[in-house]
Amino acid sequence: MTSPDKGYYTSGAPIGVDGDFITAPEISQIFGELIGLWLADNWIRAGTPKTFDLVEIGPGRGQLMADALRATKSMSGFQAGANLSLVEKSKAYRSMQAKKLSTYSPTWLDSWQQLPEGGQPLFLIANEFLDALPICQFEFVNNTWMERRIVWSEGSFAFKPTRTITPAASDNFQNPSEGTVLEVSEERDALVRAISKRIAKNGGIALFIDYGYGAAKLGDSFQALANGKPVNPLDNPGSADLTSHVNFFSVVSQARAAGAEAFGPVDQGVFLLRLGAEIRATQLASKATPEKTAIINQGLKRLVHPLQMGSLFKVVAISRNGSPVPAGFD
Ligand code: SAH
Repeated sequence: MTSPDKGYYTSGAPIGVDGDFITAPEISQIFGELIGLWLADNWIRAGTPKTFDLVEIGPGRGQLMADALRATKSMSGFQAGANLSLVEKSKAYRSMQAKKLSTYSPTWLDSWQQLPEGGQPLFLIANEFLDALPICQFEFVNNTWMERRIVWSEGSFAFKPTRTITPAASDNFQNPSEGTVLEVSEERDALVRAISKRIAKNGGIALFIDYGYGAAKLGDSFQALANGKPVNPLDNPGSADLTSHVNFFSVVSQARAAGAEAFGPVDQGVFLLRLGAEIRATQLASKATPEKTAIINQGLKRLVHPLQMGSLFKVVAISRNGSPVPAGFD
């Protein structure tokens, strides 16, 4: 339903304290640092491959990768072996990423379809990327599933069931009630399949973090945010962040169908605490002023508390069949 080809992401840089939304790496350095150590830990478990592809899809302001790489500085061989690729469409974000990451000589790609195909293991992260990919919605009307489209009607945009289509995902639901909405993201599924196939073949691991749900679910999660507030997604096209909740049930099934192993989803809060988020906060606070300490603790709480980002955001890892359970998932 949404297309970032021309529009929201390509016309500005909306992430950040003053932007439309704020993301985990912008809230606290702990997020990126722990993910960096998690990547390096998986690289060690994979037998420290000499060269590998290190990829981030949708790096935004580049903070996550900058914190992750700083945290892995002392891991001998990790940075030297990494070929860093950043998948980013927006020019504004690319220049922010260049400022933070130029010492690691990244290569930029326009889309995930251009990911390097080489025979090397792939270590990939994507935070709040899957939610930005387009979805299709289906509505249950008069006992049949119909595709819901955006139409121009009487001077404004409106949602309308248009043609009869029964999506495969509807098999998961018996007797839906009238008006129920079912969401499917073909691009998300295709991306997960492509990455899973690559990992099944060449090894490595992928980490996806996003707001979403783990069990097959019905409902309309399409939403728009402008200046941190929900707005009508049909108003002022191109001016708000359009997202939908990620169906991690589908992510996990696609990964397994493509021949890889999937772990999770686990709640972001649980994942970060298992990786030592509290210990890292205490470490940072031990050298900080009381004001900074308060900011560190607020950031930690925001990332892990179940009433903040801790439960809404989920984490899934995809690795090769037979590889050990990655840290944070046991
Ligand atoms: N991961 C970052 C930013 C998330 S916002 C963080 O955690 O802060 C989504 C990012 O994906 C932005 O950088 C946006 O420009 C990029 N993006 C969105 N759709 C894209 C697409 N189809 N192809 C490539 N990049 C895309």
